[in-house]
Amino acid sequence: MKRMDHAEKLLSLVEEGTSPFHVAANVERQLAEAGFQKLSMNRDWNLENGGKYYLVHNGSTLTAFTIGRYFAYGDDFRIAAAHTDFPGLRIKPSPEMNKDGYRQINVEVYGGAILNTWLDRPLSAAGRVTLRSEDIFHPEIRYVDFRKPFLTIPNLAIHINKDVNKGVELNRQKDLLPVLGLEETEEEGKESEFFLEYLARQLRVEKEDILDYELGLYNTDTGDFLGMSEEFISSPRLDNLTSVQAVVTALIEGGRDRGVNLAAFFDHEEIGSRTKQGAGSVFLSAVAERILLSFGRGREKFLETFADAMLLSVDVGHALHPNYADKNDPTNKNVLGRGICIKEASSQSYATDSEAVAVMQQICDAEKIPYQKFANRSDGTSGSTLGSIASSFYPVKTVDVGVPLLAMHSSRELMGTADQESLVRAVTAFYSL
Ligand code: ZN
Repeated sequence: MKRMDHAEKLLSLVEEGTSPFHVAANVERQLAEAGFQKLSMNRDWNLENGGKYYLVHNGSTLTAFTIGRYFAYGDDFRIAAAHTDFPGLRIKPSPEMNKDGYRQINVEVYGGAILNTWLDRPLSAAGRVTLRSEDIFHPEIRYVDFRKPFLTIPNLAIHINKDVNKGVELNRQKDLLPVLGLEETEEEGKESEFFLEYLARQLRVEKEDILDYELGLYNTDTGDFLGMSEEFISSPRLDNLTSVQAVVTALIEGGRDRGVNLAAFFDHEEIGSRTKQGAGSVFLSAVAERILLSFGRGREKFLETFADAMLLSVDVGHALHPNYADKNDPTNKNVLGRGICIKEASSQSYATDSEAVAVMQQICDAEKIPYQKFANRSDGTSGSTLGSIASSFYPVKTVDVGVPLLAMHSSRELMGTADQESLVRAVTAFYSL
């Protein structure tokens, strides 16, 4: 595949991946189309050499793996992990607010969003909804994506807010409530379940059957190629769908005759990963152990095998911003389009060990893949990834890599078009060499 093919593939995931559930569903479809078989944690696994498998965990987390044709005891595990969630706004329960002639809904901030980038945009909503069921312990689950933009959070006019260009602090409760309609005269001042009714119509169910939901607002923009030679991709949700798509493509297209290639797509990275479907759960190590159990090898063999595993934590990095070059480290400056970043931090906010970094550099050198090293300015911090959390649960050599990005956590971010191909090639080589 060529540079633009990888970029187009990424943008089609962005278009469909409007919630972590929809990201996982898109990944599931790509894997199923590539012949991966679905497994379930509560069923027996009968794995075979040369087999390709995946399983979905709580809807928004997914893991997939391939077993080498000649897989044998002592072969290593190579794991690449990315996250399915992105910062934004989530709809609270009982969200309806009728106010001064407008219909609004109550939302909360999810993750570290740049809040003002959510203003004045056409927004839609997506996620999952749980419905009343015959078996109360197994509610019916439905995914919903309205697709059509129907909400917006209008700015306050500059005439009323004269200091707006000096910077505005947005209150997370008061200033981010979207409008989605006008109050009808007969309902003025009365409680009404207009959003629940709208949701029920979308799902073609009775409002009374909707019990709960996990719904987020999303930016309905599609991605665009920018720059005089289409050097840039400007799009919502690049963090971290660039990595999700790179890992999926690499798992499908890469491969080796020995060993196990494992991919993990975790939810909840943006809120710290310490949840049942986050990278800080035992899910991934349980999957790895069951792979060996299925081949008749017990816990001791699992621990032996896992000691030799390697983890590639794949997430975006900070590119140098030309208007704020002084915000970057003076000797490690990452530029869009010049290759993937290998991220290091002695604080371990990026999982950093020189052995794993050296493996990655040799992979890139062997395949002629451009890479840049990233470090934070010493007087600044810049977030973390799931790598360091995951590596405390799977204590294996770990390296953090990803494409450099500008405007990280804006509702629309910017990356280098060529970097997507570099990332796909790097993860593919990790799984193949
Ligand atoms: Zn991320």
